[in-house]
Amino acid sequence: MSDFDVLVLGSGPGGQKAAIAAAKLGRRVGLVERRDMIGGVCINTGTIPSKTLREAVVYLTGMSQRELYGQSYRVKEEITITDLTARTNHVVGREVDVIRSQLARNHVTVLPGMGRFLDAHTVAVTDGSGSERDVTAAKVVIATGTTPARPSSVDFDGQTIIDSDGILGLDRVPQSMIVVGAGVIGIEYASMFAALGTKVTVIEQRMRMLEFCDTEVVEALKYHLRDLAVTFRFGETVAAVRRYERGAVTVLESGKKIPAETVMYSAGRQGMTGNLDLPAAGLSADARGRITVDEYFRTAVPDIYAVGDVIGFPALAATSMEQGRLAAHHACGEPVRAMHALQPIGIYTIPEISYIGRTEDELTENRIPFEVGVSRYRELARGQIIGDSYGVLKLLVSPDDRSLLGVHVFGTGATELVHIGQAVMGCGGTVDYLVDAVFNYPTLAESYKVAALDAMNKIRQISLLDT
Ligand SMILES: Cc1cc2nc3c(=O)[nH]c(=O)nc-3n(C[C@H](O)[C@H](O)[C@H](O)COP(=O)(O)OP(=O)(O)OC[C@H]3O[C@@H](n4cnc5c(N)ncnc54)[C@H](O)[C@@H]3O)c2cc1C
Repeated sequence: MSDFDVLVLGSGPGGQKAAIAAAKLGRRVGLVERRDMIGGVCINTGTIPSKTLREAVVYLTGMSQRELYGQSYRVKEEITITDLTARTNHVVGREVDVIRSQLARNHVTVLPGMGRFLDAHTVAVTDGSGSERDVTAAKVVIATGTTPARPSSVDFDGQTIIDSDGILGLDRVPQSMIVVGAGVIGIEYASMFAALGTKVTVIEQRMRMLEFCDTEVVEALKYHLRDLAVTFRFGETVAAVRRYERGAVTVLESGKKIPAETVMYSAGRQGMTGNLDLPAAGLSADARGRITVDEYFRTAVPDIYAVGDVIGFPALAATSMEQGRLAAHHACGEPVRAMHALQPIGIYTIPEISYIGRTEDELTENRIPFEVGVSRYRELARGQIIGDSYGVLKLLVSPDDRSLLGVHVFGTGATELVHIGQAVMGCGGTVDYLVDAVFNYPTLAESYKVAALDAMNKIRQISLLDT
C-alpha cells in the first residue's frame, strides 16, 4: 500500500484545492512544500502581496478621494516602503495561517521540502537541512507553479535591477522606475508606483499592451497612467541594462538611453519543473517549463496530474484553484464536469479592469453582430458619491437573441462588478433580465441596468427604421 492516496507537489491555489478536495473525499493526502512558502507564489510573492500593496497605495495616497477633496488630498505625505510592507506582511501572515489551519482541519499531511520524482509513484522530499525522505502515492498532482523568467544577460541584484518578486524587497520607494514588459503584472506595478509618485517608463516590444482586453478600456487606462506621468515606449527592445551605484541606464535597440533608480523586469514566467526530475516519472516539460495536460488535467503518464501555472494559460490563481479541485475529483474517481468556458479576467491596475466573454474586436473579426450598451459612473449617483467620474461599464449584446456576448468594466469595483454579468451569462440570461431587474440604489451595480437600457434603445431604433 502507498504512503498516500494522493500526493500534491506545491501548496499554491492549485495544490491547496487539490489536497483539500481529495481529503474531503476521504483520501489520505500528503502535500509537499517549502516551510516558508505555504500558500505558494499566490500568497507569498504574487497575487496577495501585490493586491495588498495596491490597497495600501490607494488608501495612503488618497487617490480615490481626490475628486471630492482636491488634488492635494493625501492620507500620508511621505509614504515609505515600511508603510506599504506593514500591510502586506500582516495580510500574508493571516492568509498563511488560514491555509495551515484548513490543511490541518482536513488532515492533510504537510511534508516540508521540495519533491523530486524517483518514479511515477515515488517522490523524494528534501527539506532545507538536506535530509531526504521517500514517499509513495497512488496518484500525484504537480502544482509547482512558476518563477519569474530572468534574461541571463541582465545582472539582477535585488535593489537596482529586480524581477516582480523583488518589489517586496525594495528598501525605498524609487523616484524613477523602468518596467520592462507591459503584461498584467508589469502594468499593475507600473500603476501602483506611478500613483506613489514614481516616474515610471514602460518598455514593451509589441506595439500594444493588454491586447486581449477591450481596446477602449485599454485606451482609458493608458490615458490615466499618462496623467500620472507614465511614459510608454512601445515597439522598443531592451539591448542592455547597465548598473551603477545610484541607479541603472537601460539602453534600447533604437539607441535611446533611459536612466532610472530601479529597473523591474516583468518579462514572462518559467514553469518550476527543473528540479522535479520529470524523466524519472516518464514525463517532460516544454522549453518554458510547462507540462501538457488533457481536459481532466491528466499528464501523459497515468496517475500523474498537473494544475495551475505549471500547465500555462491562463495562469491565474482563480483558474488554478478550480483546476486543482477538478483534478483531485478525477483522480479520486468522482464524476467531473469540464472546466466552465466562461472565465472572468481581472486586472488590478489603478483604476482596475475586468471583463468576461468576448471583445468588440473578436466579435467583429468573427463577423458576429453586436450592439453596445454603455453606462458611465459619473451618471450614476454612486459614482458621484464615491468620486469616480471615469468608470464605465459596457455590455455587448446580440441583436438577434439579446444574449450577452461580453461585459467590460473599467473603474472602481470592476473586478467585483463583472460577476453580475458572469452570472447572467452563465445562466443563459439575456439583456431583458437586466432591463427588468431592480438594483439597490445608489450602487455601481445599477450600471448594468443603465447599459442594458442603452443597448435596448439602440436595438429598438434599428427595428423601428427596419419596419
Ligand atoms: C505579481 C503577481 C500578481 C498576480 N496577481 C494575480 C491576480 O490578481 N489574480 C490572479 O488570479 N492571479 C494572479 N497572479 C497569478 C497567481 O499568483 C498564480 O496564477 C497562482 O499563484 C498559481 O498557482 P499554482 O497553484 O500554480 O501555484 P503557485 O502559487 O505558483 O505556487 C507553487 C508552489 O509550488 C512550490 N514548489 C515548486 N517546486 C516544488 C517541488 N519540487 N516540490 C514541492 N513544491 C514545489 C513552490 O514553492 C510554490 O510555493 C499573480 C502572479 C504574480 C506573480
